[in-house]
Amino acid sequence: FLSVKGLKKAFGDQEVLKDINLEIERGNILTIIGPSGSGKTTLLRCLNALERPDKGTYSFDDGLELHFSDHIKKNDMTRLRLKSGMVFQSYNLFPHKTALENVIEGPLIVQKRNKDAVMTLARDLLEKVGLSDKMDLYPHQLSGGQQQRVGIARALAIQPELMLFDEPTSALDPELVGDVLKVIKDLANEGWTMAIVTHELRFAEQVSDRVLFMDNGYIVEQGSPKDVLRNPSEERTKQFIQRIM
Ligand code: ATP
Repeated sequence: FLSVKGLKKAFGDQEVLKDINLEIERGNILTIIGPSGSGKTTLLRCLNALERPDKGTYSFDDGLELHFSDHIKKNDMTRLRLKSGMVFQSYNLFPHKTALENVIEGPLIVQKRNKDAVMTLARDLLEKVGLSDKMDLYPHQLSGGQQQRVGIARALAIQPELMLFDEPTSALDPELVGDVLKVIKDLANEGWTMAIVTHELRFAEQVSDRVLFMDNGYIVEQGSPKDVLRNPSEERTKQFIQRIM
């Protein structure tokens, strides 16, 4: 689906992504693990065009190619942005909009799709994430787990080809984590293409096709969940996994 080559990103003189090369196969689930500050969030934000990479190339299987050292056409940047839906660690819902209004915002206002179709889609998505009775509530009237499920429905509503999850359960009380992971597992079973940053290594082991371990702006190791999580070849990966598993 996507091949990323030579991705670099700095903030000021701090290089956060140093030389990232990865592939995401259509229908596959890639999980990204690694210590705090290693660049995982920045990588997802670069994939979603929330941050513009300084260097590197994205090649999509539909022919879209972006070379970040060159000028990029606005139209190509918009195409890139609409390819993926992002689910944030802290939900990032609009506080003054209901669950339903949060979900329709992207397809209605940004994509300017037909209102009736968008309303039907949004209701279906909220039902899919188990919130059919909460559609008219505001974020502050919802639990963290419910807000995050609205966040997932909202990302799905733009009908992206790739779903990006940035530590989707790390802000949740432990008893609410399961509901959100279940929704993500259901999407995995439906064949969605996803990249997930997570500290839930057991979950990563269950859902991933590939696991990528990052440290200090580099990909230290990537491979099958069994190889990376159970039998890592790099010392840094071993230490990280021992600490949190
Ligand atoms: P965590 O697991 O704690 O979320 P992470 O692996 O996702 O960490 P990033 O959030 O990508 O790491 O951050 C990597 C580094 O980039 C950090 O040192 C951070 O301070 C820095 N950084 C991230 N975003 C910005 C920004 N907008 N401006 C300046 N520095 C930033």
